[in-house]
Amino acid sequence: MKKLLPTSTAGSLPKPSWLAEPETLWSPWKLQGKELSDGKRDALRLALQEQQLAGIDIVSDGEQTRQHFVTTFIEHLDGVDFEKRETVRIRDRYDASVPTVTGAVSRQKPVFVEDARFLRQLTRQPIKWALPGPMTMIDTLYDAHYKSREKLAWEFATILNQEARELEAAGVDIIQFDEPAFNVFFDEVNDWGVSTLERAIEGLKCETAVHICYGYGIKANTEWKKTLGSEWRQYEEAFPKLQKSSIDIVSLECHNSRVPMDLIELIRGKKVMVGAIDVASNTIETPEEVAHTLRKALQFVDADKLYPCTNCGMAPLPRSVARGKLGALSAGAEIVRQELSK
Ligand SMILES: [Zn+2]
Repeated sequence: MKKLLPTSTAGSLPKPSWLAEPETLWSPWKLQGKELSDGKRDALRLALQEQQLAGIDIVSDGEQTRQHFVTTFIEHLDGVDFEKRETVRIRDRYDASVPTVTGAVSRQKPVFVEDARFLRQLTRQPIKWALPGPMTMIDTLYDAHYKSREKLAWEFATILNQEARELEAAGVDIIQFDEPAFNVFFDEVNDWGVSTLERAIEGLKCETAVHICYGYGIKANTEWKKTLGSEWRQYEEAFPKLQKSSIDIVSLECHNSRVPMDLIELIRGKKVMVGAIDVASNTIETPEEVAHTLRKALQFVDADKLYPCTNCGMAPLPRSVARGKLGALSAGAEIVRQELSK
């Protein structure tokens, strides 16, 4: 990107209420069959337009065609039985009924490639596409086949690489892997988490990103955050390994979180998507608040490597709030851009 401080979102945006129940995770679709597939496309157009009207530089599909950032991808794979459910603890935080891995996992056909092609036709702006990361995928399943988190993660990494190569060919500029699990399973991150991520991006020529956050603003996450103390130093565990990895961009949570900003020093050299928008609150940031977060980040990131972003996805927020937050992000980045040009 030639433009300084190009803005983007971590991924999801709220869906229109005619497509899915608003302000709900795993919200069921309100349409069926052809109406549903047409409706998803219309929602994707709207999500793009919301971003464009707000002045967002790197746009996404707003994840309008998926029910959930992890499950929807897995639903398209063989080897996972969605009828056979077990209760597991997700990210060591809350219990959920999840599908079971019953055989070898594989991808028979592309999952999001048609959607990416559709978005590519609608805009010339750079596109970022989010996929779940291998570790976060295995953490949302019960594995009755491989019986090894690491083994299953390597299998998913191979599948993600197939999908990523096709997304790149469809014209996606940045492929992002969501790995909130990197903030929880530190030993695994170091043993095989970063390596499986590198397997997922193998051979890609487009830019690649990893998004590590403290999750959506749902109750289980808010409760968990209360237990983390006054300083959230989780990034300290994965950052040194990521700094040495082949990932181009690290997307992280900053605004209103208790992450010490100087931890960004640990990924010196990487591009950093700095979360300047809190997704766990309906209060819309002022442009000045956004600018303040970006200025703090500039102490640890070179200006040409700073990408203003949201802390996480905005799917569970009311649409008007998300719209306001996109506008604030854009306006806040512009304030700092002006300051840097003086
Ligand atoms: Zn996130």
